[in-house]
Amino acid sequence: MALVPLNYYDLLERLPQPGCVICTLVEHDTRRYLDSLLYEYANAPATHVRLRASRGLCAAHSARLADFGAGVLGVTILQAQVLDEVRRLAEANGERTLSRLLGLSAGGSSIADRLEPTEECPACSSVNHAEAGHALALANAITDERMIAAFRQSDGLCLPHLKMVLREIPTPAHLEKLMTAQSEHWTRLREELETFMRAYDMNKTAPSDVGAASDSWRRAMRLLAGRPR
Ligand SMILES: [Zn+2]
Ligand SMILES: [Zn+2]
Repeated sequence: MALVPLNYYDLLERLPQPGCVICTLVEHDTRRYLDSLLYEYANAPATHVRLRASRGLCAAHSARLADFGAGVLGVTILQAQVLDEVRRLAEANGERTLSRLLGLSAGGSSIADRLEPTEECPACSSVNHAEAGHALALANAITDERMIAAFRQSDGLCLPHLKMVLREIPTPAHLEKLMTAQSEHWTRLREELETFMRAYDMNKTAPSDVGAASDSWRRAMRLLAGRPR
C-alpha cells in the first residue's frame, strides 16, 4: 500500500466539524504553534534570534498570543527580546549624526529601513507551510471514497482554501469530484439564505423558526471569506 500522508487522517478526522476543514486544521496548527512557542521555546536562544529578525510576530499572531493568558511570562520574555532588537536598530548611530549635521530629515528613511523585518513572522511561516500540506493532501485524496464521502457531508471549503486546493488538483477526475461536491454545498447554502430572507420578509424581524437556515448568513460569510488567522 502506498504511503498515506498524515494530513489524510487529519482531514478525515476534522471534516465532520462545522466550517471549512482547512480553516479548522489551520486554527489547530496555530494554537499548537503558539502553545509550543510559549511553553517550550520562550527561553530558547534560537527562538530569540528568529523573533528579533521578524521584529516579533505579525499583528494577527500577536493578538492570538495575547489570548494565551497562562503564558504571560513567555510573552513577556519574547517581547523584551524584540523590544531590545528594535531599540538597538533604531539607535544604531552613524547616519543619525550625519543627517543631523547636514540638517536633513532623510535619516528617518534609513531608520525605517533598518527596522524592516529580515524574516517572515515565524508563526505565519509555520502555519502557511502546514496549510499548503493540507491543501495538497485534500487535492490528491479527493477521489478517495472515504474522503469524498466525508467532504460531501461537510460544510465545504471557504473560498481562499478552495482556490488553494484547486491549484494543486492533479487530474480532471479529481477536479470534477471536488467541484461537484463544492457546488452542492453552495447550492444548499444559497437555498438556506433564501429561506431566511423569505421568513425575514414575513416576520419583519430575524426569524428564529427556520432551523438550520437561522445562522445561514453567518456560515455564508465564513464560507466566502474564510476564518481570520
Ligand atoms: Zn478555509
Ligand atoms: Zn503571523
